[in-house]
Amino acid sequence: MPRPAFPRTLREFQLTFASEAACQQYLAACRWPDGFVCPGCGKPHAYELAKRQRWQCAVCRRQVSLTSGTILHNTKTPLTAWFWAAYLMTTDKRGLSALLLQRQLGLRRYETAWMMLHKFRRAMVNLTREPLRGEVEVDETWVGGAQAGLQGSRQLRGRKAALVLVAVEKRGRASGRSRMAVIPDFRRATLTSFLKQNMAPGTTVYTDGLKSFSGLQDAGFKHVARIQPRRTAMRNGTKSVVPLADRAIGNLQQWLIGTHHGVSRDQLQVYLDEFVFRYNRRKQPMAAFQTLLGLGTGRAPTTYARIQGGKDLPPLLSES
Ligand SMILES: [Zn+2]
Repeated sequence: MPRPAFPRTLREFQLTFASEAACQQYLAACRWPDGFVCPGCGKPHAYELAKRQRWQCAVCRRQVSLTSGTILHNTKTPLTAWFWAAYLMTTDKRGLSALLLQRQLGLRRYETAWMMLHKFRRAMVNLTREPLRGEVEVDETWVGGAQAGLQGSRQLRGRKAALVLVAVEKRGRASGRSRMAVIPDFRRATLTSFLKQNMAPGTTVYTDGLKSFSGLQDAGFKHVARIQPRRTAMRNGTKSVVPLADRAIGNLQQWLIGTHHGVSRDQLQVYLDEFVFRYNRRKQPMAAFQTLLGLGTGRAPTTYARIQGGKDLPPLLSES
């Protein structure tokens, strides 16, 4: 039972996953790419119990759920809706708002759409992911609650805006993979902690002249710090010292405002993860689609209560 090829167009997707049965076939193909094997007796014969989303071993009668270990387990929402939502989320660069998803899928409750999107967002953080390496640009930005005019740490006093650190791999003049994190402050320990969590030792880190970035050499990185030109000069064509990170920040800000009309601070990290997820997999939509549905990751499902208020998220860097 070979895994079917990933649909290249919206039309093809619609035709491939038009029914619950088709979605179940796909789940079975992901679960048993070389054909069904009973986890009880090891025999290769089974019947489909389509209505219960299970297969039953023809020899020992054991039942195996197609959705266990995926975010689809015990869902009351049709598989076609989940597949459709995952496809839109991986292929549409703008991402989806819950309201738009509710409308597009014809869901009765807004909460259902909201829940689906947040389950996807939590599936996006691959805990075993490879650290960035080679040459990496790092820059910081404020998100939300504009505090224009205030410089650096003085902005922290109002605390309406969130501070975000952005890292982008330099591959020649193009961008490689990215990482983004909400950070509580500009302290040297905070920045070093982010770099250590996200970059391989020996990575060359390019930053602006911010003082907190000093000391990166001691932490095992090669550090290239250059003074960032003034904004007015950059508008007139002077180049940023971290152009790839700046471009990523611009895209992020545009996306947060355009698609979500701003995001609350306690959910911000989740949105950063979504942005980075799509960004890092922009060339592998099939892998992205399967990761979202939890196919092959064995990630435990997240309950509604834990998602509200971001309770299941890891604590901010320096608070951990
Ligand atoms: Zn069996």
